[in-house]
Amino acid sequence: MKIITQETITSAANAEIKALRSLHERKYRRQTGLFLAEGMRICLDALEQGHAPHRLVYAAERSDIAGLDRLSAACLAAGGRLLPVSQALLGRISRKDNPQMVMAAFHQTTVSLQQLTADPDSCWIALDRVRDPGNLGTIMRTADAVGAAGIILIDDCTDPFSVEAVRASMGAVFSVRLAVTDTPGFTRWAGDWPGEIIGTALPASCDYRKADWRRPLVLLMGNEQAGLTEALSGLCTQLIRLPMKGRADSLNLAVATGICLYEMNRAGEM
Ligand code: SAM
Repeated sequence: MKIITQETITSAANAEIKALRSLHERKYRRQTGLFLAEGMRICLDALEQGHAPHRLVYAAERSDIAGLDRLSAACLAAGGRLLPVSQALLGRISRKDNPQMVMAAFHQTTVSLQQLTADPDSCWIALDRVRDPGNLGTIMRTADAVGAAGIILIDDCTDPFSVEAVRASMGAVFSVRLAVTDTPGFTRWAGDWPGEIIGTALPASCDYRKADWRRPLVLLMGNEQAGLTEALSGLCTQLIRLPMKGRADSLNLAVATGICLYEMNRAGEM
């Protein structure tokens, strides 16, 4: 079905387009509470998770693309706007040479720590100052894959709503709950946490396969450069390491998180 469109926008000076382009910057994402997601698949995933686009941008000459009618209807029903644009403008908005035909701005959703309950089967992943958006997106994607309850971002973390993190999350940004806090906030919350808090650290003596993975649990991962702070390590009920044979001193943060999460699931199935 070809959707009814307004006139094609071709100018990067258009106010709506300028606002969308500004969402590449954290400052404007913070100000507006919006973020950009690219591609039909991620936008339809978002819809399935109950998130309608606030602004829907698409190549005007591809307005018959499958799925666009559903996205458009949801966008309009939620009070959003449709923005048919030229191919060249899509490239300017996404900052890519080969942009996706569809992009959308969505409202950011986070939960407060107080809303996080210790359901008996829950696993929360807490990240200490994660800096790399690719790592954070990959961890969101893995959290979704293993059925983790969500991710707690502690202190100065990279923005989970950056274009890079959203891209790497492959849509998990819409399904995984995200909470943002600092060390004092996490420390208070952890004081009431009834289950295990498993920290990962290179000097730890316990092999990750010997850990007690009973849920509810929090898996606590350290910063890419500095590892876990002493304050956060001190909150852990167990500290574990992933044995390494080669010359590198550590594993990539997202890889280490994935190995732990799959071990947690394996242990739970035994
Ligand atoms: N130089 C840092 C350090 O001393 O901890 C390396 C940090 S590592 C790249 C990032 C995080 O991944 C670590 O803080 C830890 O949470 C996890 N990690 C990576 N390799 C690990 C390993 N072999 N054992 C336990 N945790 C590991």
